[in-house]
Amino acid sequence: MNAEKLLQARADLENNLRALLGRAVLVIELDLFALPCGCNGITANMRGLELDDVEVFEEQMLPYFKKMAASLDIPPSFIFARLVPGSSVVAAINWRVLCDRCYPEFARARGKKPRPDIYIMHIERREGRGSEKRKG
Ligand SMILES: [Zn+2]
Repeated sequence: MNAEKLLQARADLENNLRALLGRAVLVIELDLFALPCGCNGITANMRGLELDDVEVFEEQMLPYFKKMAASLDIPPSFIFARLVPGSSVVAAINWRVLCDRCYPEFARARGKKPRPDIYIMHIERREGRGSEKRKG
């Protein structure tokens, strides 16, 4: 991945969402991130996107979101919408490659809203991993 690819992905994502929703939606920033724990991925900071949009168009959005991540060399294993707490405003779409410590927290989650600020669109469960505690 390089910055030019990221620029193109930002523009493509915005155009795709606009075409799908039929109105102005902004991807104000597309970021690549790395956390101290080992989690990494990409974040699309949004303006004008609502949880309703994600729920209604999830089936159309998800294949595109997966394809986009793959094109940036990010495994699309966990995709969620982050909400402004206490509202239905989508602050960001996150593609997060979970580290071994964070994975169980989300894999355990039941339903699509394990936390008030997270709406899970897609999570790939790891067979036989993440459920048992580490020895020692
Ligand atoms: Zn982590």
